[in-house]
Amino acid sequence: MTNLSALYHSMDYGPAPESAQEAHRWLQAHPSGFGLYVNGSWNTPQDAPTFQTHNPASGDVLATCVEAGPEDVDAAVQAARQATTPWQELGGPGRARYLYALAREIQKHARLLAVLETLDNGKTIRETRDIDVPLVIRHFYHHAGWAQLLETEFPGHEPLGVAGQIIPWNFPLLMLAWKVAPALAAGNTVVLKPAEFTPLTALWFAECCDRIGLPPGVFNLITGAGATGAALAAHPGVNKVAFTGSTEVGKRIRNVTAGSGKRLTLELGGKSPFLVFEDADLDAAVEGVVDAIWFNQGQVCCAGSRLLVQESVAPRFLEKLKRRMTTLRTGDPLDKGMDLGAIVAPVQLERIRSLVAAGHTEGVESWQAPHPLPEQGCFFPPTLLTGVHPSSQLAQVEIFGPVLVSSTFRTPAEAVELANNTHYGLAASIWSENLNLALHIAPQLKAGVVWINSTNQFDASSGFGGYRESGYGREGGHEGLLEYLKPQASGAAKPLTRATVPATFPALAADATAAVHRTAKLYIGGKQARPDSGYDLPVLQADGALAGSVGHGNRKDLRNAVEAASKASGWSQATAHNRAQVLYFLAENLGARADEFQQRLRQLTGASAKAAAQELDASLSRIFSYAAWADKYEGRVHQPPSRTVVLALNEPLGVVGVICPDEQPLLAMLSLLLPNLAMGNRVVLVPSRPHALIATDFYQVLDTSDVPGGAVNIVTGDPAELGKTLAEHDDVSGIWVCGSAEEGAEAQRRSCGNLKQVWTNEGKAINWLDREAAEGRDWLRRACQVKNVWVPYGE
Ligand code: NAP
Ligand code: MG
Repeated sequence: MTNLSALYHSMDYGPAPESAQEAHRWLQAHPSGFGLYVNGSWNTPQDAPTFQTHNPASGDVLATCVEAGPEDVDAAVQAARQATTPWQELGGPGRARYLYALAREIQKHARLLAVLETLDNGKTIRETRDIDVPLVIRHFYHHAGWAQLLETEFPGHEPLGVAGQIIPWNFPLLMLAWKVAPALAAGNTVVLKPAEFTPLTALWFAECCDRIGLPPGVFNLITGAGATGAALAAHPGVNKVAFTGSTEVGKRIRNVTAGSGKRLTLELGGKSPFLVFEDADLDAAVEGVVDAIWFNQGQVCCAGSRLLVQESVAPRFLEKLKRRMTTLRTGDPLDKGMDLGAIVAPVQLERIRSLVAAGHTEGVESWQAPHPLPEQGCFFPPTLLTGVHPSSQLAQVEIFGPVLVSSTFRTPAEAVELANNTHYGLAASIWSENLNLALHIAPQLKAGVVWINSTNQFDASSGFGGYRESGYGREGGHEGLLEYLKPQASGAAKPLTRATVPATFPALAADATAAVHRTAKLYIGGKQARPDSGYDLPVLQADGALAGSVGHGNRKDLRNAVEAASKASGWSQATAHNRAQVLYFLAENLGARADEFQQRLRQLTGASAKAAAQELDASLSRIFSYAAWADKYEGRVHQPPSRTVVLALNEPLGVVGVICPDEQPLLAMLSLLLPNLAMGNRVVLVPSRPHALIATDFYQVLDTSDVPGGAVNIVTGDPAELGKTLAEHDDVSGIWVCGSAEEGAEAQRRSCGNLKQVWTNEGKAINWLDREAAEGRDWLRRACQVKNVWVPYGE
C-alpha cells in the first residue's frame, strides 16, 4: 500500500474519481432506451431504427436512442408550428418565466449533468463541472432577461417561427443552450437535433422541459444522425436553420436552403491563430496554449490550433511549453485530476492519427507529452508539431484534436499575414504585455472573436461566430438575439420581376440629340473602362425611343471590378468621420445636379415631374441619413462575469456585390449602396438594366465627391447573369440581391464556395420611400459583421 511518506517523495497523483452513480441511475430509469420528444410527449415510432451512444473513455454502451426518420421530423416541425402562436402570444415576460425555470432546474442538477456529459462525450469532469454547465446556466438566465425585455428592447421586430437547430458533439449541452435559449426568448419554437455521439444531455433537457411545464411543441427533440439533420434543414415548415458543425456540412445546408426564405446561421470550423509576441508574459502565454488547444482535447471549433511565436522568443517559449506539457495528464475523464479526457469516438481518433502521420511523412517534427495513456478507450496525447509550413495540410486543415501546429514570425505585419492565411476566421488569441500593440493587431485579424492575453472565453452577453468560411451569424448577446427576429412586416409586398429589355438598338428618335445619346462606359477603380466584350446595350426611354447605351459587362469586367474594390481597402480603414464627410459631399453634389437627374428619371421611367422630384428628394435624404449614420452605428461594450471588457466592434464585410432592382432606380440604388459605403465596404454595383444610365450618370457625381477610386465600381449588363458571377467570386465577402426571387435563390446557391453573406429581398418589392422600412439599423447591420474583442484587466 502506498503511504503518505512514499507519496510525498514521488509526488504522484492519486485517483480522484467523481461518482457516476446518479447518472447511471438516471440511465437505468430508461431500460428500453429513449424515444423522441415531440409535442410534449415521448414516443418511440414503431420499427424505428435505433443507435447506441457510448462512453468513449471505456467503449461501454450508455443508452439506445431512436433514429428519427422523415415522418418523425415532419411531426416535430408540425408540433413546433402549432405551438408558435400561443408561445408568441404569451409575450416576452411570460416566456421569461419558463426560461428562468429552466435555468433553475439545470442549476439544481448541475452535478448530474456534468457527469452525464463527461460519460457521453469523454471530456473531463473538471471542464463539464467548471465550464460547460455553468455557462449553460448563465445562458438561460441571461436569455430569461432578454425575453423579459424583448418588446421594449427590440421594438418593431417579431419572431421568425419554427427554428430547426442542429448541433455537434463537442459541447453538447452548451451548444443546445446557445441555440435554444435565444430562440425561445425571441418567441420561436424549436426542433433540435443533437449529435449522434452525444444525445444524452439533450434528452435530459427534454425531460426538464416537461418537468417545468413548458407548453407542448415549444421544444421538440429528435435524435438521429446526419440524415435526420438533413431532413430537418430541408423541411419546408422550418423558418430558420441554426447549425453548428463542420464547414463542409454548413455549405451543404446553405445549398439546400437557398431560395427557401429560411434564415440561416452557420457556426463552423476554424484554424485559429495563437499569436505570441516577444513582449508577452511567456509563462501566462504557455498557460494560454494549454487552454487553447488542450481544452476539450482540442475538439473545439475555436481552438488556438496554430501557434505563431515571434522568432526572438520562440526557442525559449517552446522549451517552456514542452516542460508544461510533461505535467499534463490524460486519462479517465471522471477523475478530477485529469487535464485531458477521451476523444469522442474511434473514428475521430483515427482521423487525428492519420493527419499527424501524414505530417511525419512531410518531415514535420512532433513532440508528445511522455505520460502513458490508458490502455482502453479513445485517447491521444497532447502533441506539438514544429517546422510546419504555413501552407501545408497540417497548418490549413482543422485537426480537431489535441495537436498544436507551430511556426514563427518576425514582425507584427508578418504575424497578421500568417494569422490570416486560412480560409477560416473564427477566433484568434493575441499575447503581448503591450496593450497598444494588441489592440492594433486585433482589428487586422479576420476573426469573429479575438482574445487578448486570454483564450477560449465565452459568455452569454457576448456574440460568438465567424468570418469567412467559419460561417455567419452570431450566437449570444444582443446580436445573437437579432438572429431570431425579423422586422415586423408592414402588409404584403408585391413580387418583384424584371422588365424585359430588347438587346437590339431601335431607330433613333426624331428629336435625338447627342447630349441625350450618351454611350456610357463601365466605372472601375475610379476610371471609366470599356467593356471587355466590346459591345454596348441600348437603354430606352419610357416611350421606347433610344436614350443611349451602356457597356455590356461580363465576367471579366466583374473580375476587374472586384480586383479594384479589393485594392481600395483604404476606404474600410478610413475613419468613420472621414467617410461621413465624403458622403455629405456626395449628397451636396447630387443636389447640385438635381434637375438633370430628375429629367433622366422622367425620361427613363416615365415618372411624372412630381414623382421624379419625390424620388430625388428621398435620394438626397437617404445619402444624408447614411452620412449621419457613418459615425454612429457603433459597437457595444459587454461586461461578462469575469474581469474583462468585451468590445463588440461593427466591422465592414470587405467587398460587397450589389444587384439593383428596376423600380425607382436612383433611390433603390442609393438605398443599397449607401449603408455599405457608410460601414466601410467597397462595392461592385450592378444597376438596373433598363435604367442603367442613371447609374452611369451617377459616377460623375462620385468623381466629384472625393469617393476614392475602387470604393464604388459600376458594371452595367444583365443583373441576373452578373449576379451569378459575383455570387461565385471568392474575393467578394457579401452580396445583396434585390431582384426576382430566382436571382436571390441563385445567389444563395452560388455563395457556398467562400460562404459569403447573402441578403436578398426574397423577390419582394420594397417601398423605398418608406424611411422606416428602407433605411437604418437593419440595413447597417447587414453591411457589417461583429468582432468581439476580449480584453481582460486587473493586476
Ligand atoms: P458535422 O459532421 O458537421 O456535424 C454537426 C451536426 O450536423 C451533427 O448533429 C451531425 O449529425 C449533423 N449533420 C451531419 N450531416 C448533416 C447534413 N447533411 N445535414 C444536416 N445535418 C447534418 O460536424 P462534427 O464533425 O460533428 O463536429 C465537428 C465540427 O463542428 C468541427 O468542424 C468544428 O469546428 C465544428 N464546430 C463549430 C462550432 C462553432 O461554433 N463554430 C462549435 C462546435 C463545433 P451527426 O453528428 O449525428 O452525424
Ligand atoms: Mg457518446
